[in-house]
Amino acid sequence: MTITIHRGIDQIGGCITEIRTARSKILIDLGHNLPKGNGPSEDRFDNAGAIAQLCEGCDAVFYTHYHGDHVDLFRHVPERVDQYIGPLAKAVMRIRLEHLTHVPGEKERREADLTAVERFKTYEPARCIRVGKDIRITPYFVSHSAADAYMFLVEADGKRILHTGDFRQHGYLGKGLLPTLEKYIAPQGIDVLITEGTMLDRNEKKIVHENDLKRQAIELMKRYKNVFVLCSSTDMDRLATFHRANREMRNRPFVCDGYQQRILESFAGHAGVKSPLFKFDHKVYGSDERNEKLRKWMLDTGFTMLLRTGPKYRRWVDTLLPELNPDETLLIYSMFRGYILPTHEAYNPDLKAFVARFPHSEYVHTSGHATTDTLAAVCRTVPPHTAIIPIHRDKGSDFASLDIGDELRSKIVTASQTIDGIDFLVK
Ligand SMILES: [Zn+2]
Ligand SMILES: [Zn+2]
Repeated sequence: MTITIHRGIDQIGGCITEIRTARSKILIDLGHNLPKGNGPSEDRFDNAGAIAQLCEGCDAVFYTHYHGDHVDLFRHVPERVDQYIGPLAKAVMRIRLEHLTHVPGEKERREADLTAVERFKTYEPARCIRVGKDIRITPYFVSHSAADAYMFLVEADGKRILHTGDFRQHGYLGKGLLPTLEKYIAPQGIDVLITEGTMLDRNEKKIVHENDLKRQAIELMKRYKNVFVLCSSTDMDRLATFHRANREMRNRPFVCDGYQQRILESFAGHAGVKSPLFKFDHKVYGSDERNEKLRKWMLDTGFTMLLRTGPKYRRWVDTLLPELNPDETLLIYSMFRGYILPTHEAYNPDLKAFVARFPHSEYVHTSGHATTDTLAAVCRTVPPHTAIIPIHRDKGSDFASLDIGDELRSKIVTASQTIDGIDFLVK
């Protein structure tokens, strides 16, 4: 067996992992490099030729979740190769792409993307899929800042490999992580653990749970009548946090645009049947500049309004802000802080300028990724016999700094080598 880390050993995002036996081959994630600031992101794999080469002899591509740094090269995958993702993840990708077809100049490209996504097959948690001649792959649910995210157990050539994808323990559904590993993975053990390590270099002393964010949001909504929120439109946990907090305000509308409304409906249809938290059924309204009744209600009782940064929102903010009492008006910034930090490589000056337009702003956010304690707990719960490969991490970050003991530390693999009959290729 050969495990190839095409990308991700020394960078966050842009993940591509290959697992190959003599007779079969799969790829896990085909991620695009993350953008830097508001400029385009370079990516040497972002062309049909490079992906055709990666897909040579490939039986299927499995995506852990719908974030672009894991899925965005899907458009170059040849039609003969099956691509798999979770059912809600596929629905979210579809809604997003349909929305993007309305962006001027994007119609043709996005329609082609949509056709490609329509071909995606979907997997079910804990249901094994046989791929090629001799690979078995089973997805297990993980909590992440994307809905419907999974880790994969891959079985082939008598070896068992666990690929975690992006995950965390401090989201609403994160408490299931270790019990899932204990129940499904630990009894038979694993040979190789491929895990994300995003937080290795981020010195978060105490991680904030999504529940704590909800409490913070409620406090802020009590203090401010008019609350704008800047957060990811596809982060189901975070949207539930603000929706739930707004519900505590009883009669205030929760306002978002048609695109976000469709995403919320999709979340409600899939995840809402399992947990009332994700039903999104309390006073959700699509914002429309022409809806005078809604506008009067918003001015009367106050509101929570999801924002994005496009021109439509700039216009809304232009017309709404002058009508609001500045002392009662707040923007909650609920995304990665680096985007608005001038010293950070992800700094986005347009976003910073947008945030600066509001009379008050507060930062309410927690990471979508596993803390160092969680990473160590995963290693201890499913200690691999042969190797730990840390991916999705900053260059120079040190997985050996985790509290995992010397034996596990000695199994960290970050360069090409052969161990226990497995060839590890690290590019
Ligand atoms: Zn990622
Ligand atoms: Zn992600």
